[in-house]
Amino acid sequence: MLHRYIFSLTLFFCFCCASVFATEIENDESTVVSGAGTVAPALSVVDVAIQEAGVSLPKAKPVQLDKPVLPEPAAISASTYAPTIKPAEKSSLTTQVDKIVAESTQLPTSIMDVQPALFLLGAEVPAATATRLSWSPSQSFEGIASPSPVLVVNGATPGPTLCLTAAIHGDELNGIEIVRRILYQLNPEKLSGAVIGVPIVNLQGFRRASRYLTDRRDLNRYFPGNEQGSSASRIAYSIFHQVITHCDVLVDLHTGSFYRENLPQLRADLQDPDIVKLTHNFGSIVVVHSAGAAGTLRGAAVAAGIPAVTLEAGGPMRLEKSAVEHGVKSIQTLLNKMKMVKKIRLWSHPEPVYYGSTWVRADRGGILFSEVKLGENIKKSDVLGIVTDPITNVSQNIVSPYNGKVIGMAVNQVVMPGFAAYHIGIAAEDDGELINPQDVMAGKDEQALQAVEVVENKPITVMPVDADIEDMND
Ligand SMILES: [Zn+2]
Repeated sequence: MLHRYIFSLTLFFCFCCASVFATEIENDESTVVSGAGTVAPALSVVDVAIQEAGVSLPKAKPVQLDKPVLPEPAAISASTYAPTIKPAEKSSLTTQVDKIVAESTQLPTSIMDVQPALFLLGAEVPAATATRLSWSPSQSFEGIASPSPVLVVNGATPGPTLCLTAAIHGDELNGIEIVRRILYQLNPEKLSGAVIGVPIVNLQGFRRASRYLTDRRDLNRYFPGNEQGSSASRIAYSIFHQVITHCDVLVDLHTGSFYRENLPQLRADLQDPDIVKLTHNFGSIVVVHSAGAAGTLRGAAVAAGIPAVTLEAGGPMRLEKSAVEHGVKSIQTLLNKMKMVKKIRLWSHPEPVYYGSTWVRADRGGILFSEVKLGENIKKSDVLGIVTDPITNVSQNIVSPYNGKVIGMAVNQVVMPGFAAYHIGIAAEDDGELINPQDVMAGKDEQALQAVEVVENKPITVMPVDADIEDMND
Protein backbone atom coordinates (compact mmCIF):
# COMPACT_ATOMS: atom_id res chain seq x y z
CA MET A 1 0.00 0.00 0.00
CA LEU A 2 2.78 2.38 0.98
CA HIS A 3 4.69 1.36 -2.07
CA ARG A 4 1.72 2.10 -4.28
CA TYR A 5 1.39 5.46 -2.64
CA ILE A 6 5.03 6.23 -3.20
CA PHE A 7 4.75 5.22 -6.81
CA SER A 8 1.78 7.51 -7.24
CA LEU A 9 3.70 10.25 -5.58
CA THR A 10 6.61 9.69 -7.91
CA LEU A 11 4.35 9.94 -10.90
CA PHE A 12 2.84 12.98 -9.32
CA PHE A 13 6.11 14.85 -9.28
CA CYS A 14 6.36 14.29 -12.99
CA PHE A 15 3.13 16.15 -13.42
CA CYS A 16 2.96 18.78 -10.83
CA CYS A 17 4.39 21.92 -9.36
CA ALA A 18 6.12 24.87 -10.89
CA SER A 19 5.03 26.55 -14.01
CA VAL A 20 8.44 26.45 -15.58
CA PHE A 21 8.44 25.69 -19.22
CA ALA A 22 9.94 22.41 -20.20
CA THR A 23 10.73 20.30 -23.15
CA GLU A 24 10.52 16.57 -23.16
CA ILE A 25 12.12 14.00 -25.32
CA GLU A 26 12.29 10.28 -25.56
CA ASN A 27 15.52 8.84 -26.69
CA ASP A 28 17.53 5.69 -26.78
CA GLU A 29 20.77 5.78 -24.86
CA SER A 30 21.53 2.12 -25.15
CA THR A 31 24.32 2.73 -27.61
CA VAL A 32 26.07 5.46 -25.67
CA VAL A 33 29.42 4.06 -24.65
CA SER A 34 32.81 5.30 -23.64
CA GLY A 35 36.21 3.69 -23.51
CA ALA A 36 36.30 0.81 -21.06
CA GLY A 37 37.84 1.68 -17.73
CA THR A 38 38.09 5.34 -18.48
CA VAL A 39 36.03 8.26 -17.38
CA ALA A 40 34.20 9.92 -20.19
CA PRO A 41 34.62 13.63 -20.79
CA ALA A 42 31.82 15.97 -19.92
CA LEU A 43 30.04 14.99 -23.12
CA SER A 44 29.38 11.41 -24.08
CA VAL A 45 30.89 10.03 -27.27
CA VAL A 46 27.57 10.29 -29.03
CA ASP A 47 26.96 13.82 -27.84
CA VAL A 48 30.41 14.90 -29.00
CA ALA A 49 30.02 13.18 -32.36
CA ILE A 50 26.69 14.85 -32.90
CA GLN A 51 28.15 18.21 -32.01
CA GLU A 52 31.13 17.76 -34.29
CA ALA A 53 28.87 16.76 -37.14
CA GLY A 54 27.05 20.03 -36.66
CA VAL A 55 23.77 18.20 -36.15
CA SER A 56 21.29 19.89 -33.88
CA LEU A 57 19.94 17.65 -31.20
CA PRO A 58 16.19 17.70 -30.81
CA LYS A 59 14.69 20.20 -28.46
CA ALA A 60 11.41 18.29 -28.65
CA LYS A 61 7.90 19.42 -27.98
CA PRO A 62 7.36 22.02 -25.32
CA VAL A 63 5.31 20.74 -22.37
CA GLN A 64 4.04 22.25 -19.19
CA LEU A 65 5.47 20.35 -16.27
CA ASP A 66 2.35 20.89 -14.23
CA LYS A 67 0.09 19.23 -16.79
CA PRO A 68 -0.58 15.48 -16.88
CA VAL A 69 1.58 13.45 -19.20
CA LEU A 70 -0.61 12.17 -22.02
CA PRO A 71 -0.05 8.71 -23.48
CA GLU A 72 3.26 8.81 -25.24
CA PRO A 73 3.63 8.34 -28.97
CA ALA A 74 6.12 5.76 -30.19
CA ALA A 75 9.67 6.51 -29.12
CA ILE A 76 11.16 9.36 -31.07
CA SER A 77 14.62 8.85 -32.40
CA ALA A 78 16.97 11.61 -31.37
CA SER A 79 18.49 11.66 -34.85
CA THR A 80 15.25 11.87 -36.81
CA TYR A 81 12.94 13.89 -34.65
CA ALA A 82 12.44 17.35 -36.10
CA PRO A 83 10.79 19.53 -33.52
CA THR A 84 8.48 22.34 -34.39
CA ILE A 85 8.98 25.21 -32.06
CA LYS A 86 6.94 28.30 -32.61
CA PRO A 87 9.07 31.42 -32.34
CA ALA A 88 6.77 32.80 -29.71
CA GLU A 89 7.38 29.76 -27.54
CA LYS A 90 11.12 30.17 -27.48
CA SER A 91 12.47 32.36 -24.80
CA SER A 92 14.02 35.56 -25.99
CA LEU A 93 17.26 34.42 -24.41
CA THR A 94 17.37 31.21 -26.44
CA THR A 95 16.56 33.10 -29.62
CA GLN A 96 19.35 35.50 -28.90
CA VAL A 97 21.83 32.69 -28.40
CA ASP A 98 20.78 30.95 -31.62
CA LYS A 99 21.14 34.15 -33.58
CA ILE A 100 24.54 34.98 -32.22
CA VAL A 101 25.90 31.48 -32.72
CA ALA A 102 24.56 31.31 -36.26
CA GLU A 103 25.70 34.69 -37.46
CA SER A 104 29.00 35.25 -35.80
CA THR A 105 32.11 33.44 -34.74
CA GLN A 106 33.30 36.60 -33.02
CA LEU A 107 31.03 36.52 -30.04
CA PRO A 108 30.21 39.76 -28.30
CA THR A 109 31.10 40.03 -24.64
CA SER A 110 27.47 39.59 -23.62
CA ILE A 111 27.40 36.00 -24.85
CA MET A 112 29.95 35.16 -22.20
CA ASP A 113 27.19 35.73 -19.70
CA VAL A 114 24.93 33.13 -21.27
CA GLN A 115 24.93 29.55 -20.05
CA PRO A 116 25.82 27.16 -22.88
CA ALA A 117 23.39 24.46 -23.93
CA LEU A 118 23.80 21.17 -22.09
CA PHE A 119 24.26 18.04 -24.19
CA LEU A 120 23.41 14.80 -22.45
CA LEU A 121 21.43 11.62 -22.96
CA GLY A 122 21.17 12.34 -26.67
CA ALA A 123 19.46 15.68 -26.32
CA GLU A 124 20.28 19.35 -26.24
CA VAL A 125 19.03 21.30 -23.28
CA PRO A 126 19.15 24.99 -24.22
CA ALA A 127 19.95 27.71 -21.71
CA ALA A 128 17.10 28.84 -19.47
CA THR A 129 14.95 25.72 -19.92
CA ALA A 130 13.89 22.76 -17.84
CA THR A 131 13.68 19.31 -19.37
CA ARG A 132 12.71 15.75 -18.60
CA LEU A 133 15.09 13.23 -20.13
CA SER A 134 15.43 9.52 -19.55
CA TRP A 135 18.27 7.16 -18.86
CA SER A 136 18.05 3.51 -19.82
CA PRO A 137 20.58 1.15 -18.32
CA SER A 138 19.93 -1.32 -21.18
CA GLN A 139 19.71 -4.12 -18.65
CA SER A 140 16.41 -5.46 -19.83
CA PHE A 141 14.86 -6.61 -23.04
CA GLU A 142 12.48 -5.09 -25.54
CA GLY A 143 9.01 -4.55 -24.22
CA ILE A 144 9.93 -4.61 -20.56
CA ALA A 145 12.72 -2.05 -20.39
CA SER A 146 11.71 1.14 -18.70
CA PRO A 147 13.82 4.24 -18.66
CA SER A 148 14.52 6.13 -15.46
CA PRO A 149 13.59 9.81 -15.55
CA VAL A 150 16.29 12.46 -15.38
CA LEU A 151 15.21 16.01 -14.59
CA VAL A 152 17.40 18.77 -15.96
CA VAL A 153 17.24 22.48 -15.31
CA ASN A 154 19.73 24.43 -17.40
CA GLY A 155 20.14 27.96 -16.16
CA ALA A 156 20.34 31.28 -17.98
CA THR A 157 23.82 32.28 -16.89
CA PRO A 158 27.02 30.23 -16.64
CA GLY A 159 27.84 28.23 -13.53
CA PRO A 160 28.63 24.75 -12.28
CA THR A 161 26.56 21.62 -12.84
CA LEU A 162 25.20 20.12 -9.63
CA CYS A 163 23.90 16.55 -9.73
CA LEU A 164 21.48 14.99 -7.26
CA THR A 165 20.97 11.23 -7.26
CA ALA A 166 18.45 9.37 -5.13
CA ALA A 167 17.19 5.84 -4.50
CA ILE A 168 20.33 4.03 -5.55
CA HIS A 169 18.94 1.91 -2.75
CA GLY A 170 15.41 1.37 -4.01
CA ASP A 171 13.76 1.52 -0.57
CA GLU A 172 15.21 4.91 0.37
CA LEU A 173 12.41 7.31 -0.44
CA ASN A 174 13.20 10.64 1.23
CA GLY A 175 15.79 11.48 -1.42
CA ILE A 176 13.22 11.07 -4.20
CA GLU A 177 11.13 13.80 -2.65
CA ILE A 178 14.18 15.97 -1.98
CA VAL A 179 15.09 15.83 -5.68
CA ARG A 180 11.52 16.69 -6.67
CA ARG A 181 11.36 19.70 -4.38
CA ILE A 182 14.74 21.07 -5.42
CA LEU A 183 14.26 20.61 -9.17
CA TYR A 184 10.73 21.99 -9.29
CA GLN A 185 11.56 24.98 -7.15
CA LEU A 186 14.25 26.13 -9.55
CA ASN A 187 13.51 28.82 -12.07
CA PRO A 188 15.73 28.24 -15.14
CA GLU A 189 15.70 31.96 -15.91
CA LYS A 190 17.24 32.68 -12.51
CA LEU A 191 19.66 29.79 -12.27
CA SER A 192 23.39 29.99 -12.95
CA GLY A 193 24.76 26.69 -14.18
CA ALA A 194 22.66 23.54 -14.27
CA VAL A 195 21.07 21.03 -11.92
CA ILE A 196 20.62 17.41 -12.97
CA GLY A 197 18.37 15.26 -10.77
CA VAL A 198 17.98 11.50 -10.99
CA PRO A 199 15.14 10.79 -8.54
CA ILE A 200 15.22 6.97 -8.81
CA VAL A 201 18.52 5.47 -9.89
CA ASN A 202 17.58 1.92 -8.86
CA LEU A 203 14.19 1.54 -10.51
CA GLN A 204 14.39 -2.26 -10.12
CA GLY A 205 14.70 -1.99 -6.36
CA PHE A 206 12.20 0.85 -6.08
CA ARG A 207 9.48 -1.20 -7.76
CA ARG A 208 9.98 -4.01 -5.24
CA ALA A 209 10.52 -1.68 -2.26
CA SER A 210 13.98 -3.20 -1.96
CA ARG A 211 17.41 -1.79 -1.28
CA TYR A 212 18.88 -4.11 -3.87
CA LEU A 213 18.76 -4.89 -7.55
CA THR A 214 16.74 -7.92 -8.63
CA ASP A 215 19.84 -10.12 -8.33
CA ARG A 216 20.26 -9.02 -4.68
CA ARG A 217 23.31 -6.97 -5.50
CA ASP A 218 23.83 -3.59 -3.89
CA LEU A 219 24.18 -1.18 -6.82
CA ASN A 220 26.15 1.20 -4.63
CA ARG A 221 29.04 -1.24 -4.42
CA TYR A 222 29.66 -1.43 -8.17
CA PHE A 223 30.69 2.08 -9.22
CA PRO A 224 32.16 3.27 -11.50
CA GLY A 225 31.09 0.00 -13.08
CA ASN A 226 32.30 -2.10 -15.93
CA GLU A 227 30.79 -2.26 -19.38
CA GLN A 228 31.54 -5.98 -19.56
CA GLY A 229 30.84 -6.83 -15.93
CA SER A 230 27.91 -8.13 -13.91
CA SER A 231 24.43 -6.71 -14.34
CA ALA A 232 24.98 -4.34 -11.42
CA SER A 233 28.34 -3.31 -12.79
CA ARG A 234 26.86 -2.53 -16.21
CA ILE A 235 24.06 -0.45 -14.71
CA ALA A 236 26.61 1.46 -12.64
CA TYR A 237 28.80 1.98 -15.70
CA SER A 238 25.86 3.24 -17.72
CA ILE A 239 24.68 5.93 -15.36
CA PHE A 240 28.19 6.91 -14.39
CA HIS A 241 29.25 7.56 -17.97
CA GLN A 242 25.97 8.95 -19.27
CA VAL A 243 25.05 11.25 -16.41
CA ILE A 244 27.59 11.52 -13.58
CA THR A 245 30.49 12.58 -15.82
CA HIS A 246 28.51 15.74 -16.63
CA CYS A 247 28.57 16.82 -12.97
CA ASP A 248 30.90 19.30 -11.31
CA VAL A 249 29.55 18.40 -7.87
CA LEU A 250 27.51 15.39 -6.77
CA VAL A 251 25.19 14.91 -3.81
CA ASP A 252 24.03 11.30 -3.47
CA LEU A 253 20.89 11.06 -1.33
CA HIS A 254 20.36 8.16 1.08
CA THR A 255 18.58 7.18 4.30
CA GLY A 256 19.39 4.73 7.08
CA SER A 257 18.94 1.09 6.19
CA PHE A 258 17.10 -1.89 7.67
CA TYR A 259 14.80 -0.26 10.23
CA ARG A 260 17.32 2.35 11.22
CA GLU A 261 17.01 6.09 10.81
CA ASN A 262 19.64 8.78 10.39
CA LEU A 263 19.73 12.33 11.59
CA PRO A 264 20.21 14.46 8.45
CA GLN A 265 23.94 14.26 7.90
CA LEU A 266 26.67 14.38 5.33
CA ARG A 267 29.03 11.46 4.89
CA ALA A 268 32.22 12.78 3.44
CA ASP A 269 35.86 11.87 3.08
CA LEU A 270 37.31 14.59 5.27
CA GLN A 271 40.84 13.65 4.35
CA ASP A 272 40.22 15.34 1.01
CA PRO A 273 40.52 19.15 1.35
CA ASP A 274 38.22 19.77 -1.65
CA ILE A 275 35.50 17.74 0.00
CA VAL A 276 36.00 19.49 3.32
CA LYS A 277 35.40 22.75 1.46
CA LEU A 278 32.30 21.31 -0.16
CA THR A 279 30.86 20.30 3.21
CA HIS A 280 31.05 23.94 4.37
CA ASN A 281 28.28 24.80 1.95
CA PHE A 282 25.37 22.83 3.36
CA GLY A 283 24.48 25.05 6.29
CA SER A 284 23.70 23.61 9.68
CA ILE A 285 24.21 19.88 9.35
CA VAL A 286 26.10 17.04 10.99
CA VAL A 287 29.13 15.98 8.96
CA VAL A 288 30.55 12.53 9.57
CA HIS A 289 33.92 11.47 8.27
CA SER A 290 33.57 8.37 6.16
CA ALA A 291 35.92 7.22 3.46
CA GLY A 292 33.02 5.13 2.15
CA ALA A 293 32.77 1.48 1.20
CA ALA A 294 34.41 0.31 -2.01
CA GLY A 295 32.28 0.81 -5.10
CA THR A 296 30.06 3.64 -3.90
CA LEU A 297 28.92 6.26 -6.36
CA ARG A 298 30.38 8.89 -4.04
CA GLY A 299 33.80 7.25 -4.01
CA ALA A 300 33.83 6.71 -7.77
CA ALA A 301 32.84 10.31 -8.42
CA VAL A 302 35.60 11.59 -6.15
CA ALA A 303 38.11 9.30 -7.87
CA ALA A 304 37.00 10.83 -11.18
CA GLY A 305 37.66 14.33 -9.86
CA ILE A 306 34.05 15.21 -9.02
CA PRO A 307 33.71 16.36 -5.39
CA ALA A 308 30.89 14.29 -3.89
CA VAL A 309 29.16 13.73 -0.58
CA THR A 310 26.35 11.52 0.63
CA LEU A 311 23.40 13.23 2.27
CA GLU A 312 21.61 10.87 4.65
CA ALA A 313 18.17 11.80 5.95
CA GLY A 314 15.71 9.61 7.86
CA GLY A 315 14.99 5.94 7.38
CA PRO A 316 14.00 3.58 4.55
CA MET A 317 10.51 2.62 3.39
CA ARG A 318 8.85 5.84 4.43
CA LEU A 319 8.70 9.56 3.78
CA GLU A 320 9.61 11.85 6.64
CA LYS A 321 8.71 15.48 6.35
CA SER A 322 11.31 16.87 8.72
CA ALA A 323 14.13 14.84 7.15
CA VAL A 324 13.05 15.90 3.67
CA GLU A 325 12.81 19.53 4.70
CA HIS A 326 16.26 19.47 6.28
CA GLY A 327 17.72 17.89 3.14
CA VAL A 328 16.04 20.44 0.89
CA LYS A 329 17.25 23.30 3.04
CA SER A 330 20.80 21.97 2.97
CA ILE A 331 20.83 21.67 -0.81
CA GLN A 332 19.26 25.09 -1.23
CA THR A 333 22.08 26.40 0.93
CA LEU A 334 24.55 24.61 -1.33
CA LEU A 335 22.96 26.26 -4.39
CA ASN A 336 23.33 29.62 -2.65
CA LYS A 337 26.93 29.05 -1.65
CA MET A 338 27.83 27.85 -5.14
CA LYS A 339 26.30 31.10 -6.42
CA MET A 340 23.84 29.18 -8.58
CA VAL A 341 20.81 30.91 -7.12
CA LYS A 342 20.34 34.24 -5.43
CA LYS A 343 21.44 34.19 -1.84
CA ILE A 344 18.73 33.75 0.73
CA ARG A 345 19.19 33.28 4.44
CA LEU A 346 17.99 29.89 5.59
CA TRP A 347 19.69 29.17 8.90
CA SER A 348 20.16 31.01 12.14
CA HIS A 349 23.28 28.93 12.89
CA PRO A 350 24.55 28.17 9.44
CA GLU A 351 27.71 26.19 10.13
CA PRO A 352 28.13 22.43 9.90
CA VAL A 353 29.51 20.43 12.83
CA TYR A 354 32.08 17.70 12.27
CA TYR A 355 31.94 14.32 13.97
CA GLY A 356 33.74 11.05 14.24
CA SER A 357 31.38 8.16 14.86
CA THR A 358 30.97 4.65 16.12
CA TRP A 359 28.18 2.10 16.46
CA VAL A 360 26.96 0.67 19.75
CA ARG A 361 25.60 -2.87 19.56
CA ALA A 362 23.12 -4.88 21.61
CA ASP A 363 24.87 -7.68 23.52
CA ARG A 364 21.65 -9.61 24.07
CA GLY A 365 18.76 -10.47 21.87
CA GLY A 366 15.21 -9.46 22.63
CA ILE A 367 12.82 -6.58 22.30
CA LEU A 368 14.55 -3.23 21.96
CA PHE A 369 12.97 -0.08 23.30
CA SER A 370 15.02 3.11 23.06
CA GLU A 371 15.43 5.62 25.85
CA VAL A 372 16.93 8.28 23.59
CA LYS A 373 15.79 10.14 20.53
CA LEU A 374 17.52 10.82 17.25
CA GLY A 375 19.66 13.93 17.56
CA GLU A 376 19.85 13.77 21.35
CA ASN A 377 23.10 14.72 23.06
CA ILE A 378 24.18 11.93 25.38
CA LYS A 379 26.88 11.35 27.96
CA LYS A 380 29.06 8.35 28.66
CA SER A 381 27.12 5.72 30.66
CA ASP A 382 23.73 7.09 29.63
CA VAL A 383 21.21 4.33 28.92
CA LEU A 384 20.47 4.38 25.20
CA GLY A 385 17.95 1.57 25.20
CA ILE A 386 16.76 -1.58 26.96
CA VAL A 387 16.66 -5.04 25.43
CA THR A 388 14.30 -7.48 27.12
CA ASP A 389 14.12 -11.20 26.47
CA PRO A 390 10.39 -11.78 25.97
CA ILE A 391 10.62 -15.37 27.28
CA THR A 392 12.86 -15.05 30.35
CA ASN A 393 11.99 -11.43 31.10
CA VAL A 394 15.68 -10.66 31.57
CA SER A 395 16.57 -7.10 30.58
CA GLN A 396 19.84 -5.48 29.71
CA ASN A 397 20.63 -1.83 29.24
CA ILE A 398 22.55 -0.64 26.22
CA VAL A 399 24.88 1.99 27.61
CA SER A 400 26.76 4.64 25.70
CA PRO A 401 30.54 4.25 25.96
CA TYR A 402 31.01 7.85 24.79
CA ASN A 403 29.85 11.39 25.19
CA GLY A 404 28.26 12.37 21.93
CA LYS A 405 25.16 12.74 19.84
CA VAL A 406 22.76 10.11 18.53
CA ILE A 407 23.19 10.57 14.78
CA GLY A 408 21.57 7.28 13.80
CA MET A 409 19.53 4.64 15.61
CA ALA A 410 17.37 1.57 15.20
CA VAL A 411 13.61 1.86 15.48
CA ASN A 412 12.09 -0.26 18.27
CA GLN A 413 12.18 -3.86 17.14
CA VAL A 414 13.25 -7.41 17.99
CA VAL A 415 17.03 -7.60 17.83
CA MET A 416 19.62 -10.35 17.91
CA PRO A 417 22.85 -10.21 19.93
CA GLY A 418 25.36 -8.05 18.07
CA PHE A 419 22.74 -5.88 16.43
CA ALA A 420 24.13 -2.40 15.73
CA ALA A 421 21.57 -0.21 17.42
CA TYR A 422 22.96 3.31 17.93
CA HIS A 423 25.27 5.42 15.80
CA ILE A 424 27.02 7.83 18.13
CA GLY A 425 28.68 10.94 16.73
CA ILE A 426 31.55 12.36 18.73
CA ALA A 427 32.40 15.95 17.99
CA ALA A 428 35.86 15.78 19.51
CA GLU A 429 37.53 13.90 22.31
CA ASP A 430 39.88 15.20 24.94
CA ASP A 431 40.62 12.86 27.83
CA GLY A 432 37.08 11.58 27.72
CA GLU A 433 35.59 15.02 28.24
CA LEU A 434 32.77 16.18 26.04
CA ILE A 435 33.85 19.11 23.95
CA ASN A 436 31.20 21.57 23.00
CA PRO A 437 30.45 21.07 19.30
CA GLN A 438 30.66 24.87 18.98
CA ASP A 439 34.38 24.56 19.61
CA VAL A 440 34.95 22.54 16.49
CA MET A 441 32.56 24.39 14.27
CA ALA A 442 33.93 25.05 10.86
CA GLY A 443 33.43 28.67 10.02
CA LYS A 444 36.58 29.01 7.98
CA ASP A 445 38.72 26.61 6.03
CA GLU A 446 41.47 26.58 8.65
CA GLN A 447 38.98 25.87 11.39
CA ALA A 448 37.44 23.06 9.39
CA LEU A 449 40.77 21.47 8.72
CA GLN A 450 41.62 21.83 12.38
CA ALA A 451 38.36 20.12 13.28
CA VAL A 452 39.11 17.32 10.89
CA GLU A 453 42.54 16.93 12.39
CA VAL A 454 40.98 16.58 15.80
CA VAL A 455 38.88 13.75 14.46
CA GLU A 456 41.72 12.22 12.51
CA ASN A 457 44.27 12.41 15.33
CA LYS A 458 41.99 10.67 17.78
CA PRO A 459 40.51 7.75 15.94
CA ILE A 460 37.29 6.83 17.61
CA THR A 461 35.86 4.37 15.16
CA VAL A 462 37.48 1.40 16.82
CA MET A 463 35.02 -1.31 15.87
CA PRO A 464 35.85 -3.71 13.08
CA VAL A 465 34.04 -2.98 9.86
CA ASP A 466 31.59 -5.85 9.67
CA ALA A 467 29.36 -6.43 6.71
CA ASP A 468 26.33 -4.99 8.49
CA ILE A 469 28.17 -1.76 9.25
CA GLU A 470 29.13 -1.55 5.63
CA ASP A 471 25.50 -2.05 4.67
CA MET A 472 24.54 0.83 6.90
CA ASN A 473 26.85 3.10 5.01
CA ASP A 474 25.82 4.87 1.86
ZN1 LIG B 1 21.43 4.07 0.86
